[in-house]
This record gives sequence, structure tokens and C-alpha cells, in this order.
Amino acid sequence: MLQTVSKTGFHLLAGSTTLKSLASRYGMRRGGFARRFIAGETVEEAIDACRVIQAAGLTTTLDYLGESVASMSEADTATRAYLGVLEQIAAAGIERNVSLKLTQLGLTIDRATSVDNLRRILDAAAARQFFVRIDMENSPYTAVTLDVFETMWQQGYRNTGVVLQSCLRRSETDAARMNSLGARVRLVKGAYKEPRDVAHQAKADVDAAFVRIMRMLLADGAYPAIATHDPAMIAAADEFVRERSIAPDRFEFQMLYGIRRDLQTSLHAQGSRVRVYVPFGREWFPYFMRRLGERPANVGFVIRGIAGER
Ligand SMILES: Cc1cc2nc3c(=O)[nH]c(=O)nc-3n(C[C@H](O)[C@H](O)[C@H](O)COP(=O)(O)OP(=O)(O)OC[C@H]3O[C@@H](n4cnc5c(N)ncnc54)[C@H](O)[C@@H]3O)c2cc1C
Repeated sequence: MLQTVSKTGFHLLAGSTTLKSLASRYGMRRGGFARRFIAGETVEEAIDACRVIQAAGLTTTLDYLGESVASMSEADTATRAYLGVLEQIAAAGIERNVSLKLTQLGLTIDRATSVDNLRRILDAAAARQFFVRIDMENSPYTAVTLDVFETMWQQGYRNTGVVLQSCLRRSETDAARMNSLGARVRLVKGAYKEPRDVAHQAKADVDAAFVRIMRMLLADGAYPAIATHDPAMIAAADEFVRERSIAPDRFEFQMLYGIRRDLQTSLHAQGSRVRVYVPFGREWFPYFMRRLGERPANVGFVIRGIAGER
């Protein structure tokens, strides 16, 4: 119940311009409260964060934050920025793996142009051996995101993968489809407040679906990513992997930058592959608000941060 209320509340607050300007003023300063979850506003800061993570033996995926752009020129700017990010990552010699959102490339404005933008990024990525994960946004975009992904897949792009959310009722069917294609899936619980007709509402149902889909992906999928900080989900994955003798290099765990770093390190120490999702960029506010909505205790941490900086 509390989880549902907080997700709704934080999604509303994410639209507040006053809050956004307050957060922008304090959040990303040196030691600012948002720095726990966001690696920085520049690609250089994000690359530095990746170097630290990779030095500890973990891998990374870099997300240049942005979503729901309001014009095609903004979508073009975001696409060019991504192309620049690919070059900077390649030059820095860190791992070639990025995540992006289709609404950042203009999906809400014009599907065909956003697909062209994605193609520009996938082509540049393929030329430099990058993997590009297409993040999953809220449910109005599920079908179209999977559709765009499949179009790319049919056109021969193999350096890309999708995300499925266990909260959505359709995801087991989608997982079976992705397994039949041989496509790489990242499984998450889902970060958005979704209506009852499309999504499970109770945490227990979301968790049970997560375990069912995780087993499908581990048994028949192509190098799935189990993306969660939930020890119960991780234990269920470990149990299934042991039962089926699935080798540790057949899948990976993924976690978000700044969340459960203890668990990231201990999983790696036990021999699991762990990838950290490293977000950066000036458009960090909606991402940041989703992280607060997942764990209301984070709000106290933010308030203390603002009070301490004033
Ligand atoms: C690598 C990665 C990529 C993701 N990509 C997407 C995506 O494309 N689309 C999408 O909808 N969602 C995405 N998510 C978010 C995901 O859907 C969940 O909202 C998020 O991971 C929280 O769920 P959980 O599985 O950790 O379990 P929960 O049951 O929410 O949390 C389990 C435990 O994890 C810790 N925890 C979880 N969240 C936080 C937090 N914000 N701050 C501090 N501690 C926390 C707490 O200890 C909590 O008790 C992604 C998550 C990861 C890890």
C-alpha cells in the first residue's frame, strides 16, 4: 500500500518545476544529495565513476539521462549527444555498453524519426562493438518499444536488447517471444505506477512474476540480466542456477549506481557477474524521483542533504 502511494506521489512531484529547480540548485553540487544516485552531469564524470567500478571487477552500462523530449530538434540533439558519448567511451577505453530510452529519441513525437535516430546510434555502436540496451518506459510505450526492437532485430541488429517489467501482466508472453528470437532481456520489477488492468498491484504478485520470468530467461534466454536489489529475488536466481547447473557466465546481475553497493560487491566476490547502471547528465530529475519513490526512506537522506547545504 505504502509503496503504491509513494510511487504515485513521487510521479506527481516529478512534474513540479519548483521542486526541480530546488533540486537542480542543490542536488548535483560537490557532495550534493543526488550524487548518490547520479554519477555527474558530464560524460567525463560518468567515465570516472565507471573506472572506479570496473577497477573493483564489476562491469557498467552508461545511461545519458533524458526522456520524453518535446521536439524533434531536441531528439536530434539527444541522438548526437549519444553518438558523442559512444566516441568518448571508446576513447576512454572503458566498457562499451550503454542504455537509452526511445522517448529521448523522439518516440512520443514521431515514431519513424525516432527509429531513424535509434538506427544512427546502433550503426555507430555496431562499428565500435558496443551493446545498446533499450530501457523500458511506462506502459503506454511497452508495445511500441518491443515493436521497434523487433524491427531492428529483423533488420539484423544484434548489438541491442530490451527490458521487461515483471509488474506487467503481459511480460511472461513477451519473455517467451524474446527467448524465441534469441534476444537479450534485462528483467526488472518496473519503476512506474501502472494501472490495475495492465499491471500487478501487490508486491507479492510482482515478485512472484519476477521469479517465474527469471526462470524462463535463465533456462531458455540469451544471456539475461537479472536487474534487482532484492535479496529474495537474488536468492531465487541462485537457487535456480544451482538446480540447473547454469554457469555464472551465462547471465549477469544488474544494479543501479549507488544502491546496495554492499550487495554488488558481495555478489561479485561470490563469483557472479555484476553490472552497474551508471546514469549521468543534466536531465537527472525524473530518474532521481523514481529512485525516491522506490524507497521513501531516501527522502530523509535528501532533506538532510539540503538542510546541510543551506
Ligand atoms: C540495472 C537496472 C536497470 C533498470 N532499468 C529499468 C527500466 O528500463 N525500466 C523500468 O521500469 N525499471 C528499471 N529499473 C528499476 C526497477 O524496475 C525497479 O524499480 C528497481 O530496481 C527497484 O526494484 P528492486 O528489484 O530493487 O526491488 P524492491 O522490492 O523495490 O527493492 C528491494 C530492496 O532494494 C533496495 N532498493 C530498491 N530500490 C532502492 C532505492 N531506490 N534506493 C535505495 N534502496 C533501494 C532496498 O533495500 C529494497 O528493500 C532498473 C533497475 C536496475 C537495477
